[in-house]
Amino acid sequence: MSTRLTTDLDFDKDGKQVTYLRLPYSSNVSAYGWVGVPIAQIKNGKGPTVLFMAGNHGDEFEGQITLAKLIRRLDPKQVQGRLIVVPMANFPAAMAGYRTSPIDAGNLNRTFPGDPNGTLTQMIAHYIEEVLMPMCSGLLDMHSGGRTLHYIPSALAAIESIDKPDPKHLAAVKAFGAPIAYLVNFGENRTSSAGGRRKGLVSVGTELGGTGQVSPETLKIAEEGAQNMLEHFGLVEAKPGRNKRQSRVMYVGGYPYYVHAPTRGWFEPLFDLGDTVKAGQTAGLIQFIDEPMREPVPVTFGHDGVVICRRPPVQVERGDCIAHLATDVNL
Ligand SMILES: [Zn+2]
Repeated sequence: MSTRLTTDLDFDKDGKQVTYLRLPYSSNVSAYGWVGVPIAQIKNGKGPTVLFMAGNHGDEFEGQITLAKLIRRLDPKQVQGRLIVVPMANFPAAMAGYRTSPIDAGNLNRTFPGDPNGTLTQMIAHYIEEVLMPMCSGLLDMHSGGRTLHYIPSALAAIESIDKPDPKHLAAVKAFGAPIAYLVNFGENRTSSAGGRRKGLVSVGTELGGTGQVSPETLKIAEEGAQNMLEHFGLVEAKPGRNKRQSRVMYVGGYPYYVHAPTRGWFEPLFDLGDTVKAGQTAGLIQFIDEPMREPVPVTFGHDGVVICRRPPVQVERGDCIAHLATDVNL
């Protein structure tokens, strides 16, 4: 497969290698330069190949910290097979602590399958989908709410239909062991998980916390989850007696599950994360502090459910996502 990225990583070699994908970037300050996207491989003999990635969105730090720790901690002798780790997938975005790349404004998780001759973000997406994914049977892509959303820590998988969820994806999303394991319909073909589907991988994502912060609790869930996925994908043997959390299995449906700001202003929430709400219930009020006599605009929930995600920043523009819901499913 043609790619402009190069690496000195030897994908056939046993042991631990930690190096860079060299992403060519000719700029005003470096005519023949490259940007180094960190990559690690931990391999021992024959077995499954699995890709763990984070920093797909640069302002989602839980997965990035967790995978850096995993690279240091994991001894090749502990695995059977091959783990490829890309802890800062959209490296320019991750270095800036932004969701998108400051170089080309690229949102990596809206860029798959990418373009080998495109922008930096498009070249990264193309390398992941066309070079790394074809080697793999499983994908864990660790996201969180980033700076503008806060999630109850969740693992997720995209499915074709909630009536007949693919058993492999259902088992994998439960295996992560987050407080919530949710299923969401296909509908976006530009994500890493869509790329994983195109290449036949079992693809699991996460939404761990967010708000541009990390906490001991979310990092613990992230680290235990990564270990659980190593076991689930068959790279390490399950440790007997380790207590795994049973996830609450939920479904995130389409548009009515999401609450968006109908106008700009200052959003006053009338709910908390984790609340159970009803369709038609007032979610909050958009206040107009700059026009103190103007009546606030109420915003309502469009569906029954549990609030698993909310937007912490108070100021909103028309179209900002304020919250989204999930509903329990018995699967
Ligand atoms: Zn993300």
